[in-house]
Order: sequence, then structure tokens, then C-alpha cells
Amino acid sequence: MLPESVAREIIASHQQRPRNRGELVGAPFITLENPTCGDRVTVWVQLEGDTIADLRSDGKGCAISQSSASLMTVALKGRTRAEAVALAATFREMVMGEAAPGRADPQLGDLMALSGVSRLHARRKCALLPWRALEGLLGAQSANAQNVNAQNANAQNANVQNAGLPGPDS
Ligand code: ZN
Repeated sequence: MLPESVAREIIASHQQRPRNRGELVGAPFITLENPTCGDRVTVWVQLEGDTIADLRSDGKGCAISQSSASLMTVALKGRTRAEAVALAATFREMVMGEAAPGRADPQLGDLMALSGVSRLHARRKCALLPWRALEGLLGAQSANAQNVNAQNANAQNANVQNAGLPGPDS
């Protein structure tokens, strides 16, 4: 496990300077929202054969959701689909507090900065948001992917409904 101060530094760095940020033109994407926290994350994945040739994210929300998206893009660029699905499962275990005590998967690298989220139940959804979008894009866990699409549709409906309301800029 990473010392608390190092973890905080990694999260702050990725929140303030998100890596692989912005639209990946022409690539498939999924946008997910976490209304309980106000997070919104879009993930684009460009596969070449079985390899993630490029992936990017964009969005807004809390430090945990945005840093998780940035860390995810760094961790998965150049990986195979199977490696990405496996790492997503390992990350989920860590965030849900289901990993064996003291077990630190070296594959997680800087993602271990988010291990403290397992103690903050309300923030688990924040950390997992970009990963759920990724899993949907990779077609992993087809049952979940269907849920993702349903939630995605709901999120879009929510946006449409919100569009008529005066925003902070108006
Ligand atoms: Zn959040």
C-alpha cells in the first residue's frame, strides 16, 4: 500500500492535470453519470485488433472520479483487451475492499492511490465510474454492459430534462 501522503499527491496530480484528456475523434465512447456525487465521465477506446491503441476520457466531478479516469487511461494504454478486463476486476476488488488484506497487486501501480476509497462507501461509485464505461466499451460482462447502456440512456434523458432549466451561466 502507498503512504497516505503519496496517494494524496497522485490523486491531486491527476485531478489537476488529467492525462489523455478530451475527445478521441471517431472512437466509440460511453458517458456515465453518478448523480449522487454529480460526476460525469466519458471514455473513448480505440482498439487495434485486440490491443487498446488509444483511450481518452473527459468529464467533470469530484477528485476521485476524475483522477480515477486519468489513472485508468495511463494504466491501460497499449494493453490487450484481456489485460484491461483483468485489471478492471482487480481495481474493483480493491475499491470494494474485497482484496485479500495486505495484498497489493503490482499491476495496479499508481491506481493503488485510490485504495483508501474502499473505506469511503459513498465514493466507491465515483472511483468505479470510468471503469464501468470502459467495461461497457470492451463488451466485458455483457449483463453489466446492458445496464451501462440503460443508465447511459437515463443519463441522456436527465440531460435533456435539465436542458430547460436555467444553468449557473444564464
Ligand atoms: Zn464523485
